[in-house]
Amino acid sequence: MYDLIIIGAGPSGLAAALYAARFKLEVRIFEKFACGGQILLSPSIENYPGFPDGISTFSLIDNFKKQVENLGLKIENVEVMGIEPEEGAFKVKAEAGSFQAKTVILSTGAISKRLGVEGEDRFIGKGVSYCGTCDGPLFKNKDIAVIGGGDRALEDAIFLANYANSVFLIHRRNQFRASGILVEKAKENPKIKFILDTIVEKIEGESKVEAVKVKNVQTGLQSNIACQGVFIFVGISPNTEFVRNILKTDESGFIIVNQEMHTTKEGVFACGDCVKKSLYQVINACGDGAVAADSVHKYLLNL
Ligand code: NAP
Repeated sequence: MYDLIIIGAGPSGLAAALYAARFKLEVRIFEKFACGGQILLSPSIENYPGFPDGISTFSLIDNFKKQVENLGLKIENVEVMGIEPEEGAFKVKAEAGSFQAKTVILSTGAISKRLGVEGEDRFIGKGVSYCGTCDGPLFKNKDIAVIGGGDRALEDAIFLANYANSVFLIHRRNQFRASGILVEKAKENPKIKFILDTIVEKIEGESKVEAVKVKNVQTGLQSNIACQGVFIFVGISPNTEFVRNILKTDESGFIIVNQEMHTTKEGVFACGDCVKKSLYQVINACGDGAVAADSVHKYLLNL
């Protein structure tokens, strides 16, 4: 019987692990893919305090991981399939077997949303991508369409411009959710062309992407943009399917928590991109993780 099982080793899970280890709790931390989560889809991070010139996300996550490992914790490659409450504790079910813990922290993060247009599924891996850092180098001197108007679309458009011949940034409105500093940087980049008030209706090609069919939502005018890559950044969807039976989420599946990161199920806490909140950044993912571990500590001590 462990004090705590942390599910997910992105920034929030690693911060929770750091605090829990320092509280001297008996902890295990499970991660189904690679340590780091979604932030590894961004090449670098410029808005995490303490790094005036920014830092590569790999280095930042590696430092988070080392700090946790220095305290004797090991991040285990385990995929959790479900959680079952049982007599004041929880059975955490994985393929490798079941584990018992008094509390659970969910830090399972989120995945990229699909755009949902014709051709998207067919061309995944043949021009359609959701990760500039991973696939950008494959598009050297090619033309690329980037879809979205949030931080990721702007960040990745700037990153992809290092490789591509040109980047068409296609956004459905003429205002951006992304930070102003990213919008400014993208506007200053001669390779990035803004195509605003425009939606993508279809991704076209024979065996690989050859073009996107777009429509201007103001004029109704349809046209084709020739490109070999389509990078889609239209928001995130939380990895919470496996716990929706035991706690409350919003209609999109983001977990409802209070300020102390308690979910609606006593003994289960959540933090990071899988919870419903107003800002999805590394800085507050880490803060959430610290609060979640502190709440676990207090819960175990009946404080
Ligand atoms: P986001 O901020 O939710 O932006 C999604 C964008 O996609 C919006 O511009 C939205 O348009 C557009 N969109 C949504 N559905 C669409 C559709 N069906 N067709 C066309 N466009 C659509 O998501 P994100 O940029 O993927 O980033 C995810 C989260 O990670 C955000 O909260 C972001 O702030 C965070 N993030 C953090 C960091 C960091 O910590 N440094 C870095 C990158 C991202 P509208 O604006 O019109 O709704």
